[in-house]
Amino acid sequence: MKYKSTRSSNVSVTSAQAIAQGIADDGGLFVPESFPQFSYSDLCELSHLSYTERAVRILSEYLTDFDCDEIEEAVHKAYADGKFDYDTPAPLVHLQKGWVEMYMLELWHGPTCAFKDMALQLLPHLLTKSLQKIHSNKTAVILVATSGDTGKAALEGFKNVDGTRILVFYPQNGVSPMQKRQMITQEGNNVFVCAIEGNFDDAQTGVKKIFTDANLNELLAHNGMMFSSANSINWGRLLPQIVYYFSAYCDLIAKGELKREGQEINIVVPTGNFGNILAAYYAKKMGLPVHRLICASNSNNVLTEFIRTGVYNRGRQFFTTISPSMDILVSSNLERLVFDLTGNDSARVAGWMKDLSETGKYQVGADVLEQIQSLFYAGCCDDDATRATIKDIYHEENYLCDTHTAVAVNVYHQYINDTNDLGTPTVIASTASPYKFADSVLGSLSQDYLRDASEFCKVQELSELTGTPVPAPIAALASKPVRFHNSCTKGTMGEMVLKAAGIE
Ligand SMILES: *Cc1c(COP(=O)(O)O)cnc(C)c1O
Repeated sequence: MKYKSTRSSNVSVTSAQAIAQGIADDGGLFVPESFPQFSYSDLCELSHLSYTERAVRILSEYLTDFDCDEIEEAVHKAYADGKFDYDTPAPLVHLQKGWVEMYMLELWHGPTCAFKDMALQLLPHLLTKSLQKIHSNKTAVILVATSGDTGKAALEGFKNVDGTRILVFYPQNGVSPMQKRQMITQEGNNVFVCAIEGNFDDAQTGVKKIFTDANLNELLAHNGMMFSSANSINWGRLLPQIVYYFSAYCDLIAKGELKREGQEINIVVPTGNFGNILAAYYAKKMGLPVHRLICASNSNNVLTEFIRTGVYNRGRQFFTTISPSMDILVSSNLERLVFDLTGNDSARVAGWMKDLSETGKYQVGADVLEQIQSLFYAGCCDDDATRATIKDIYHEENYLCDTHTAVAVNVYHQYINDTNDLGTPTVIASTASPYKFADSVLGSLSQDYLRDASEFCKVQELSELTGTPVPAPIAALASKPVRFHNSCTKGTMGEMVLKAAGIE
C-alpha cells in the first residue's frame, strides 16, 4: 500500500514515510492509494474477535511495510496494557428511545477521558517504528499546540516512549481549569509543558514557525534530534479511528442487534477538524454498511453550511462554546474528503486550498456537492440547546453525556425530524467523559449548584447528583503535584524548545 498527496499527482510513499513526515512536501495530506474491502462475511468473522484483534486486522491492510509482529505489539501496548478502564477500549451502550435505536460508542475510557486517546495511545508506537524504517535514528521532538484535549492525550501517549520527547504549549487563559491541571501534573521522563501568553492561535502559529526555523532545526540535528508532529492530519492518527467504527458494527452483529445481514446503520459524529467523521467515511468506503453520516457542529457551524451549500467560508464570527474541542473554523481533514469525491483530482483540490488561504473560502462543484449530500446530513446547535439535550437524555434515558456528545444527540434528533428515518440503528460517537466538562454538565442538570466552587467540588457534586463514578484519572488529579510552572511569550518559545530538548 502506497500513499499519495491530495495536492499533486507525483507523490508515492510508504506508510512509514507518511507517518514520519506527517504532511506532504507540497502541503497536501497523505491518503492511501486504495481502500481495502471488507464483505459482510468478513465483518461476521471480525465480530468473533477482540478489539485489539480487529485493530490488527484492519491496520495490517494499510501498514503493509510493517511486520505483523510490529503491528500486534503496537496495538497491544496501546489498548491492552491496562490503559483503558473498561474491558474493551470502545464499548457500545444501547439506549432505546421510543422506537429509535441509539447506540452510544463510548470513546473516552482512556487515560485522558476523551476520544483523542484512541489514536494518541497508538500513534507514538507507529511513529517510532516508522522512524526506524526510514533509517532515522534521531530522537523525535514532538511539538504540540493545544486548545485542551489534544495536548493531554499526546502527553499521555508519548510519556516514557523511547526515542521521543514531547513539548506542549497551551494558551495561558484558553483552557479549562481541569484541562490545565491535567497537563501541568503530567508524569513521565520525556515530557515538558509550557503556558504561552496569548491565545490558541498564537500557540499554533508559534509552533508552525518553530518547525521551519532553520537555526533551531540545525541545533536539534547537531544533537541527534529532529522535530515531529502529532497533529490530527497525520495518517497515523486517522487510521486507528477507522477501527472503532468497524468494531461498533461487529459488536452489533455479535449481540444480535441487526435485523438482517448487511443492515445499514447511521453514524453521528460531533465534529471539529473533520478527522473523526472522515474515519467513519473511510469505513463506509471499505464496505461497512452505513446509510448516512451525520455531521454535528456547535455554533461554529462552518461545516453545516458547507454540507448544505458547497461553500466553505471561514470568514465568520468565532464563538467560544461549552463544547470547546469543536470550536474550529478551518477543518483540515475536509481536504481528504473532497479529494476523494473529485476522483482524486489533486489539481482541483490544490486550487480550492489556494482559494481558502487567499480569500478565506472555496466552493466545490455541483458534482461534488451532490455526492456530499447523498452521503452526509449536517446540523448544528447552540449552547442552550446543548444544555437542554444533556438534561433530556439524562432524565429520559438515565444517560449522562458530555457537551460534545450532546451536540451529536441534538443533531440526530434534527435528522429524525427531517427524514423520519426511524428504522436505521444509529451509532453516536461519544467523544468525552462528562467529568471532563463537569462545570457545564452540572450546570445543565441543576440550577442551584455552587457556581464558584472548585472544579473538583463540581466533579464530586456531579457524581453525587447522578450516582455515576468519577473516572479514576480525573479523581487522581486532585492529589497530583504540579510539575510544570513554565510560561513564555510568543518571542521566547524557541528558548523553551531548547530547554525541553535539554540543549543549552
Ligand atoms: C477533538 C474533539 C472533537 C472533534 O473531533 P474532530 O476529529 O476534530 O472532528 C469532538 N469532541 C471532543 C471531546 C474532542 O476532543
